[in-house]
Amino acid sequence: MSDINNKVESTDFIREIINGDMETGKNGGRVITRFPPEPNGYLHIGHAKAICLNFGIASDYKGSCNLRFDDTNPVKEEEDYVRSIIEDVKWLGFDWGKEVLFASDYFEFMYECAVNLIKKGKAYVDDLTGDEIREYRGTLTEPGKDSPHRGRKPEENLELFERMRKGEFPDGSRVLRARIDMSSGNINMRDPVMYRIMHAPHHRTGDGWCIYPMYDFAHGIEDSVEGITHSICTLEFENHRPLYDWFLDELGIHHPQQIEFARLNLTYTVMSKRKLLRLVEDGHVSGWDDPRMPTISGLRRRGYTPGAIRDFCERIGVAKTNSTVDMALLEHCIREDLNRRAMRVMAVLDPVKVVIENYPEGREELVEAVNNPEDPSAGKREIPFSRTLYIEREDFREDPPKKFFRLAPGREVRLKHAYYVKCREAVKDPSTGEITEIRCTYDPDTRGGWSADGRKVMGTLHWVSAPHARNARVRLYDRLFTEENPDSAGEGRTFTDFLNPESCRNLDSCKVEPALASAAPGNVFQFLRLGYFCADMETSETDPVFNRTISLKDTWAKIEKKSR
Ligand code: ATP
Ligand code: MG
Repeated sequence: MSDINNKVESTDFIREIINGDMETGKNGGRVITRFPPEPNGYLHIGHAKAICLNFGIASDYKGSCNLRFDDTNPVKEEEDYVRSIIEDVKWLGFDWGKEVLFASDYFEFMYECAVNLIKKGKAYVDDLTGDEIREYRGTLTEPGKDSPHRGRKPEENLELFERMRKGEFPDGSRVLRARIDMSSGNINMRDPVMYRIMHAPHHRTGDGWCIYPMYDFAHGIEDSVEGITHSICTLEFENHRPLYDWFLDELGIHHPQQIEFARLNLTYTVMSKRKLLRLVEDGHVSGWDDPRMPTISGLRRRGYTPGAIRDFCERIGVAKTNSTVDMALLEHCIREDLNRRAMRVMAVLDPVKVVIENYPEGREELVEAVNNPEDPSAGKREIPFSRTLYIEREDFREDPPKKFFRLAPGREVRLKHAYYVKCREAVKDPSTGEITEIRCTYDPDTRGGWSADGRKVMGTLHWVSAPHARNARVRLYDRLFTEENPDSAGEGRTFTDFLNPESCRNLDSCKVEPALASAAPGNVFQFLRLGYFCADMETSETDPVFNRTISLKDTWAKIEKKSR
């Protein structure tokens, strides 16, 4: 929504800052942002917030947003992560225009920048060990101490740095440090490390390098090379900003503005890649795309849509203070989206057989069903009805308690889209007492599920015709953790102590409408009365598999109503 001055509605403090830049003509009115993931894990819903923000701003101001891999650390990075990240950003609906960018493509330029700083006396090679450097750095209350190598002359530093690059020294034996201020109140400014020696192959540069730049040095250069105007990052980088600025000022190259915002935290999950990796490696989940993971690929497999995730990111907004968002809000967003879009179908998760005694053997008919009452354009379909059906075992009680309005002996209910049926008796297995069959009669004058004489029934049940039904496997997913904040749930306990043992229940003999067998992976349905379910990527015509995206009960709507 940009007006003539290329300003947009300032929905958050970042757009406010950029509107200010538009007024003063900074950057010539251009806006170039970037999303810079490190390819050391799959993207999660927190990244989605950063993606929506960066790509959203670029689009608002008719600018562009780069997708750049911050691949400066060779040991933790893998090709598979790169592939998945590209797929996820695309799936969310964003476009980075030209090709994907890699920080490793700027290694040579970064090296030149380092040489530049050495020549200016602003960087030096240090031989202290990692532990010594930490010790010399001081604390929040005490200034640091100069390294004995801090006074090295530029020529000596240049020679040593060159030899570091050539691979003459072992890992950890030397580093290149910026020469700033060992007594700075900001510890990040106490001669931070710029390069370390790592004899490790890199996923793109191979054995080309055995020294690798540190984030704080590399990131500003990456932004600068790409002509980024606004470098948006999360709050923990706020006290790295003086260093970001220092490097760019000393190098005298294009200087983007770093702006920090609060990262997204969500209840009932963890978001750090390190922890997500642990869930994967320790086998608590089936992989990064396990439908219980807060990853984009997990959410996709669970049945979340790009629209719902973008809507969520818009609703949570962008702020300058950290907070935790209720998982119920994310769930609310997907319910709203699927309510509009999902086709209503019938599936019986825990089937018990029903025989309609007065319905002729061998007869079958088709009843008509509205696909989506929220969307007339979704049309109608026909479902087979016959003498034997399945209904949900819990929809029948021999001894119904008060307020149980479903099927019971002598009780009449509606079978959705079909007929009224009345229960005569339940047949039990004599040895176990388990109900094996419910015998009913139907009223032929109630076709479509409505009685001509105005007779009302209290309950409406979903069902499927037994001879037509397809067997399906259904996975009932729930929240992965039992604690709101598994990250800080008490002394001596770790987040995996709070895994929800019931986060996945596998049901292997569910019965679904025949049409569901041909559902394509990713198709989402509302199983009437049960929730939203998504055809899993492993689904097939012979072995349909559905993941429960979310139940129908919206706790967020309740919270919202209460607070109104
Ligand atoms: P983690 O802490 O999980 O390892 P990270 O910040 O190291 O995540 P990056 O790959 O560096 O992961 O993140 C890419 C971009 O996404 C960064 O700009 C980062 O600020 C942003 N980002 C990461 N996590 C979140 C979050 N929870 N909320 C908002 N933005 C995030
Ligand atoms: Mg990071």
